[in-house]
Amino acid sequence: MLLIIEKETIIELARLMGGEESANVMKILLKKPGIVDEEIASRLKMDIRDVRKILHRLNEIGILHYELARDKETEHRVFKWYVQEEQISGFILTNMKKILDRLREKLESERNSQYYWCGVLGHPRLLFDEAMERFFRCPTCGNPLLSHDNEELIKALEWKLREIERALEEMTRFKRIEEIEQNKK
Ligand SMILES: [Zn+2]
Repeated sequence: MLLIIEKETIIELARLMGGEESANVMKILLKKPGIVDEEIASRLKMDIRDVRKILHRLNEIGILHYELARDKETEHRVFKWYVQEEQISGFILTNMKKILDRLREKLESERNSQYYWCGVLGHPRLLFDEAMERFFRCPTCGNPLLSHDNEELIKALEWKLREIERALEEMTRFKRIEEIEQNKK
């Protein structure tokens, strides 16, 4: 399965990673693949060091790559920067999926467990066996542990899961490679 990521999403991702300046750098990179850092700096009227910092950060997470070339006039080595669009879809998917997986696990354990809690935020909730070992007293404050109704928490988790799933659908457009290949013919 190949993902088509819209340019707006890529710019949004750059913004998430480094704010407005990072988003502006990404806009230029998408418009002009192979652009060198000096040109980005002069177009955006930014300090070259800030531009390089942003480029390296985006390179570190694997959504950019560069080519070493030699400037024809000055003979200096220059870096030509490109956006790796295929890598971006992977980056978004793995990270969103990680968050989704974690939430699903948490939701499962909330649904399947009965917790005992003193009712003070930040104090631990214990499972039945753990609560019994402590004679149903909170290990932090010593107050009695009561069975905790986690219905609200479950609802909140379910809501959050749906939100992320929706965002993931909006951010990515699924198309099968076969469909794209067929369109080419
Ligand atoms: Zn407590």
